[in-house]
Amino acid sequence: MLKNVVPLTRPMATRLDGRQLAAQLEQRLQALVAERLAQAGRPPGLAVLRVGDDPASGVYVANKEKACSRVGITNLGAHLSATTPAREVLATIERLNADPAVDGILLQLPLPGGLDEAPLLAAIDPQKDADGLHTLNLGRLLKGEPGPRSCTPAGVMALLAAAGVELAGKRAVVIGRSILVGQPMALMLQAANATVTVAHSRTQNLAELTRAADVLVVAAGKPQMIGAEHVKPGAVVVDVGIHRKPEGGLCGDVIFEQVEPIASAITPVPGGVGPMTVTMLLVNTVMAWSQRTGAELDFDALFAGLAFG
Ligand code: NAD
Repeated sequence: MLKNVVPLTRPMATRLDGRQLAAQLEQRLQALVAERLAQAGRPPGLAVLRVGDDPASGVYVANKEKACSRVGITNLGAHLSATTPAREVLATIERLNADPAVDGILLQLPLPGGLDEAPLLAAIDPQKDADGLHTLNLGRLLKGEPGPRSCTPAGVMALLAAAGVELAGKRAVVIGRSILVGQPMALMLQAANATVTVAHSRTQNLAELTRAADVLVVAAGKPQMIGAEHVKPGAVVVDVGIHRKPEGGLCGDVIFEQVEPIASAITPVPGGVGPMTVTMLLVNTVMAWSQRTGAELDFDALFAGLAFG
């Protein structure tokens, strides 16, 4: 007879539900905007600047505009044709910089071929940098100074905090070193006292490295490259990647079915990091609005006590 049978399967990982957390944060933002509106004298304004007709960008921009209207942010965006010369895009950015009703500006990427994104991104007023990707704001992140934070990694940090993931002293591995995700992600994890390693396309023995991670953030942009063999049992796995599957539907950089039974917590794709990225854009806009209309918003208070229900 079998006695003291140890179950062979671990409980499934907690799903870090980005939609749920984004909805909670949106509620807080909506209340804050409503409360401060009379004193501020105007609603917050976000200008999403789209150039050309990239279809995926169309969906992303529409999502951002809908999210704005849910929390009471005015959409002041512009849509320029794909043939717009660089000087006209620049003039539009300068107009938005000077417009007192605009608190946040986002240049939707990718731009049509022939337009160099670097000088256009650099032209955005750092105080209105809703994406947190301006050189000055990346420098502020590096130095631990306040400023708008890059939306995707800031969204990941909010997910980890809401899940009660302790980062101090933990080993974190970030796969990817882009300015958009990997680099600011590594800085944020380091600022939270994790010991951080950044892996990239030239990293050797990736699985050996990732198997040492207590927290693994995957932002390589390679569909389903991370499987069970890359993950330490009990690790927290955040999948930033997002891809359209040839057969329809979306997937991430992680093979969810393989990793979910091993990890202690994991973000789904879709519905994990993506919704939080959009919400952090709203956070940056509302923060800038508060500052520009004479009230300092307490960033920590906005996130305090958020938890998965
Ligand atoms: P990117 O292509 O700019 O950077 C990818 C990084 O991954 C590079 O640093 C590269 O060195 C590294 N990499 C590539 N192959 C690798 C490999 N085999 N092993 C180790 N490292 C490897 O991409 P990005 O802009 O950082 O975006 C990454 C992914 O995240 C994409 O799928 C993108 O669509 C997605 N993304 C999602 C959101 C969201 O809100 N969910 C936001 C931004 C980006």
